[in-house]
Amino acid sequence: MTSPDRYAVIGNPISQSKSPLIHMAFAQESRQNLVYTAIEGPLGQFAATVDAFRAEGGKGLNVTLPFKLDACAYATELSEDARAAGAANALKFEGDRVQAQNFDGVGLVRDITHNLGQALQGKRVLLLGAGGASRGAILPILHQAPACLFVANRTVAKASALVQSFHANGAPATLQGGGFDELGRDAFDVIINATSASLSAATPPLPASAFAADGLAYDMVYGKGLTPFLQLARQAGVRQLADGVGMLVEQAAEAFAWWRGVRPETRAMIARISVPLV
Ligand code: NDP
Repeated sequence: MTSPDRYAVIGNPISQSKSPLIHMAFAQESRQNLVYTAIEGPLGQFAATVDAFRAEGGKGLNVTLPFKLDACAYATELSEDARAAGAANALKFEGDRVQAQNFDGVGLVRDITHNLGQALQGKRVLLLGAGGASRGAILPILHQAPACLFVANRTVAKASALVQSFHANGAPATLQGGGFDELGRDAFDVIINATSASLSAATPPLPASAFAADGLAYDMVYGKGLTPFLQLARQAGVRQLADGVGMLVEQAAEAFAWWRGVRPETRAMIARISVPLV
């Protein structure tokens, strides 16, 4: 048997990453001869660490915090999503070529539309936060042709600048941005929490009237159970609640398919690493 192809996730810290578990299970299920490990990249030494991985024959990397911007700078070719996000979460190495992709937003949209059964076309979508995760989600959501996509952020100027940068690159007028105080007049069908508030058990300042009862409340954070945002949504009467575990697994599946040409099944893995929303 030939020696396995090498892949890894690089980040700092990295011990919490579920990517090795997910990708090794994908490889086993699809009979791909590969090994996938975790690399704790020393801060400030992204390029040198990736150079060493490639010199040892590494074929591809997932990239997580704090290196997603470094991954863009390191690449020789950026996908549309990586360019729009200004960040990459997957690299593929072929000789001197370094291709970069950002699958976070595509993974989010696939989880919402495919796994959770909520079409985004013609819907009113609210995206909370204007950081890296929000930036990466905007283009894939717009590709679904929602009736509107409103980006709300605590620091209003950041939301405005983010939306302006997408408009400058041809985004439609259905993309709008502003502060939380602009919310509450009309309900949204899908509300996605892309703030990091749930990591500190904080609640984004969202009026109950922003939620549509038959809509979806989605928290990108995963493994935290019923976050304050999801609690707020439940109290507002929203019946469908989800955390970001499906987004995590779907972005991994996209990267796997890009590297190996085989798209793995995701449902069993999502079920395996899901934490009940209680
Ligand atoms: P960033 O640090 O880039 O952005 C954080 C955002 O959260 C900012 O817009 C910030 O607002 C806002 N924020 C932080 N605290 C609060 C609060 N108490 N109230 C309101 N807004 C707040 O983070 P990322 O964009 O990288 O990540 C956001 C979340 O998405 C994280 O929880 C991360 O775990 C999750 N994520 C999940 C993924 C998955 O696969 N499921 C993938 C990637 C991210 P301000 O600008 O005002 O500071």
